[in-house]
Formats: sequence, C-alpha cells, structure tokens
Amino acid sequence: MRKIEHLGIAVKDIDAATKTYEALLGKSAYQSEAVESEGVKTVFFKTGESKIELLGATREDSPIAKYIEKRGEGIHHIAFDVADIEAEIKRLKSEGFQLISDKPKAGADNKRIAFLHPKSSHGVLVELCEEIKP
Ligand code: ZN
Repeated sequence: MRKIEHLGIAVKDIDAATKTYEALLGKSAYQSEAVESEGVKTVFFKTGESKIELLGATREDSPIAKYIEKRGEGIHHIAFDVADIEAEIKRLKSEGFQLISDKPKAGADNKRIAFLHPKSSHGVLVELCEEIKP
C-alpha cells in the first residue's frame, strides 16, 4: 500500500455534487466516466497527491443506489494505491482478509481494482488500485 489514492463518496445527484465539490475544492473535475457494468457514474478531482471520486447511480438497482438507500450519502470507500495488485491480494488473503472478488477488474480512471469486504476492515470498504501503465 503506497498511499491513499482516492476517497470515494456516494452521492444522490452526481451533477449537483460535482458543482458542490468544484466550489469546495476551487477547481474543476479532471475526469468523468460511467462504468456501465456497475451502474455508476464517477467524477474525479485531484487534491494534491490524492483524489476525490464522486459516485452516482445510473440505474435504480446499482450497488451505489442500494448503498445510498441503506446508509445515505457520504464516504463510501478508501482506495489505496498498490504497485502489484495480484501480489497485494495474495498477501491480504494470507493475512486473513476477505476480498469481494479474488481477481482484479477494470475500474474507472485507468485502474485495475479489487475490494476488501468491509467486515474484514472494521466497517470500511477498502479498494486496492493499480494504475494501468500505458
Ligand atoms: Zn474508487
């Protein structure tokens, strides 16, 4: 784990939230991307070394919509930057952490990602992300 890559924030209205965070951070988002398989639209802001990822649902049955229904808007996950996601998954499994899926998948912002089950990390959803090198 090299650093906190980003914080993910679940929002009800992605356009309104984008305006709010533009005003809060004093800058525009640098990227917006829909991940259709997850039913989510993401908007990214840079804040120094780290980033903020806004997550809005694109359909009613998406995991983000269900999350907001249950827990409301707010911090959804912490993402850590890793050099080698396969090695990190292996290491965490050997430490007894439960992963949501054992294989990394394609995520937003040019990343390969995997999630730990929040039960494994005291209620915090942890994302591992490895930048895809060009
Ligand atoms: Zn994320």
